[in-house]
Amino acid sequence: MKTVTILGATGSVGTSTLDLIEREPERFAVDALTAHCDVDGLASAARRTRARLAVVADEAHLPALRAALAGTGIETAGGASAICEAAARPVDWTMAAIVGCAGLPPVMEAVRRGGTVALANKEALVSAGALMTDAVARHKARLLPVDSEHNAIFQCYDSAAPASIRRIILTASGGPFRTWSRADMAGVTPEQAVKHPNWSMGAKISVDSATMMNKGLELIEAHHLFPIGSERIEIIVHPQSVIHSMVEYCDGSVLAQLGTPDMRTPIAHALAWPYRMDVPGEQLDFATVGRLDFEAPDPERFPALRLARAVVAGNPSASAVLNAANEIAVAAFLSRRIGFADIVAVVETVLDGYDAPAPATLDDVFAIDREARAKAEQAIKSLSRTQTSVSTNQAISN
Ligand code: NAD
Ligand code: MG
Repeated sequence: MKTVTILGATGSVGTSTLDLIEREPERFAVDALTAHCDVDGLASAARRTRARLAVVADEAHLPALRAALAGTGIETAGGASAICEAAARPVDWTMAAIVGCAGLPPVMEAVRRGGTVALANKEALVSAGALMTDAVARHKARLLPVDSEHNAIFQCYDSAAPASIRRIILTASGGPFRTWSRADMAGVTPEQAVKHPNWSMGAKISVDSATMMNKGLELIEAHHLFPIGSERIEIIVHPQSVIHSMVEYCDGSVLAQLGTPDMRTPIAHALAWPYRMDVPGEQLDFATVGRLDFEAPDPERFPALRLARAVVAGNPSASAVLNAANEIAVAAFLSRRIGFADIVAVVETVLDGYDAPAPATLDDVFAIDREARAKAEQAIKSLSRTQTSVSTNQAISN
């Protein structure tokens, strides 16, 4: 029996993880499940899996959670610190599937107790960087990458002989606007941006895929997980999302991991590791796929790639800035406060001239994160002011 905790159990990755765990109840026992505020989803999952503890991050929802789980014997708790306490409980395996830097404190709790952490929550690693990988080494924890590209690299990467690796090739679908001009992308709506051509995912990562900031975050993530030098990590657009990433060795061999775009495959790999487990569903049908296409990414139409490349090669504290500003800008886009092209423009404004020492502690990371969020809000406000005055001027001249 493997004991498991799922941080972010009600999201896209969280529910895929539950799907796998619930298929093999004799193999997995659930300790804690956490969510932000989806009481119904959390309570239902806790009942089905007979979890020991269910936690909501938003304390205002704790009374509803208590009521939903009354009489089941399942413990309940609420608040961000309760999520950290849940993450600190001893289990064999923790899924880190909270979205955003909000997931960093609980991930670090799981790392500090020396656990095996399946990492979907890329924003946590992007923000904390070496502080997280150092803590993993110090506490003898293990990070198993769940992001499909990083899981693919993990499956192809010979960690015993990193010197024999020539480069890592990170594949990108290119998102829903791969072939669109910059002018056409300016009018993209949240509804269009969250519709990914190949993957079904949460709203934030879907928007990140559309701006290609997701690939930027993944470049930084790969740089921390597979430290061969960021200049040796290349990005290639592969619209079919069949090859999830590749590793090239010094003898010219290129190893790739392929599969259908189903997150249950990388999740299952991390869940069963170092063994394998069955994942039901569609098999890859090569005759139907027919062909695999590749094209160079275009940093002109997708400037997020250029920003991430500069950040990964430069000041380590800038990663936390890039991530925080992006989280704020994506939320502003989803609530229709800014346009699609403004997302990366806001991130660039916040990064512009940013210069601070590398964070020495997690508190430093949180301070950098808070400051970048405040600057992003300012940039969004001044954008809305400019847009209001432009439309007022247009109304006057009409
Ligand atoms: P999602 O929005 O579907 O789910 C997010 C989960 O986090 C939910 O359970 C939500 O309740 C919880 N949450 C949100 N804010 C929280 C907060 N402040 N405190 C505590 N919990 C909070 O997101 P997702 O698509 O499942 O993505 C989760 C993470 O996995 C992200 O970092 C994403 O980049 C990464 N990821 C997702 C996919 C995918 O296919 N969805 C693929 C690769 C990586
Ligand atoms: Mg990915």
